[in-house]
Amino acid sequence: MYAPPGVKTAKDMPVPDTMKAWVLGDPGELKFTDKPVPVPKRAEVLVRIDAVAICATDLEIIWHGPPASIQGGMPFNKNWTPGHEYMGTVAALGPGVDEYKIGQRVTVEIHAGCGQCKRCRAGMYTSCHNYGLNYGDVDKGHRANGFTTDGGFCEYQINNINTLVAIPDAMSDEEATLVVTAGTAMYGLTELGGLVAGESVVVTGPGPIGLLGVAVAKALGAHPVILTGTRDNRLKIGLELGADYVVNARTENPVEAVRKLNGGKGVDYVVECSGAPTAVNDAVRMVNRGGKVCLAAFPHEETPVDVAHIVRNNIYLYGIRGEGKSATHRAEAFMSQKRFDATKVHTHTFPLEDLPTAIKYARERIDDAIKVVVKTRSSASQRVAAE
Ligand SMILES: [Zn+2]
Ligand SMILES: [Zn+2]
Repeated sequence: MYAPPGVKTAKDMPVPDTMKAWVLGDPGELKFTDKPVPVPKRAEVLVRIDAVAICATDLEIIWHGPPASIQGGMPFNKNWTPGHEYMGTVAALGPGVDEYKIGQRVTVEIHAGCGQCKRCRAGMYTSCHNYGLNYGDVDKGHRANGFTTDGGFCEYQINNINTLVAIPDAMSDEEATLVVTAGTAMYGLTELGGLVAGESVVVTGPGPIGLLGVAVAKALGAHPVILTGTRDNRLKIGLELGADYVVNARTENPVEAVRKLNGGKGVDYVVECSGAPTAVNDAVRMVNRGGKVCLAAFPHEETPVDVAHIVRNNIYLYGIRGEGKSATHRAEAFMSQKRFDATKVHTHTFPLEDLPTAIKYARERIDDAIKVVVKTRSSASQRVAAE
């Protein structure tokens, strides 16, 4: 039975010694295997994983490697478990932990920074200067589960208490996996961007971050909130999540349409979530002078950018990595108050053992898949109505 020294467990929540886990072999190859249940250290808890959402970044990692970095290199054939957008139940407490209780439901942030570099000290732990330095004699204590340390496509994982977000009973497992996605949008708009109520926002690209970006912007009091994209079914979900207007970039010039919808002027913020090669140049023409562009997606190739337009118009361009400054806690507050219904972006659920099928649905957008979730504690596949 699982009883490591210094670790607190509870009789009513017994933990096994081994668990089922997916590990990454060669690029694109996942194997279902057994692993020992990991042991939490100081300031860490063991989380029994109940549900995990599949992210576009997981697909990138499974097929290409970066931004995962395992033992300083590519993540392939290292008995490493991917997956980062998970939630679950606290199952054991590491030494000294009294902030959480065994049996408590939580969702997680991905990044536990080293806590000692200048970015971590400023709350920008997703930009930790010691990223990936957590092995051998270069152990800086950094963890980013599913990127630099074992992730969530398994039954148990350890998390630093600073990466945990408590969730209410009324929030479903599937919805809880989306807190970190909404938290990323929150971080881009408020902590990095400085958005205040009444400012205007465009979101380009209705993927999960874009759609929840619309929802968060609206909940923050932005006006108007405009969503651009090419798929009408996703634009419709954007309207349900609070977009005042949507623009289909296949039928209208999105820059002209945005300026027209905002009284001939550009908007204060663009959150770029499409990664299209023309996206940066479009975005800097959608903002007004002095406006801000948050880049949350990128094309694989380098693309030309109209620097003169950016300079002459005092435009701010900034990238975003993940969900810093505890923005997920504020996103969770919106969600538990039902300020928007994040479950509108969740479309499919599969059991953990069907992960390859779930990934196929997410990758090929089968049956209009948006967010696909795998659950460790259910056995039936189900299609969830997007309506
Ligand atoms: Zn993700
Ligand atoms: Zn750091």
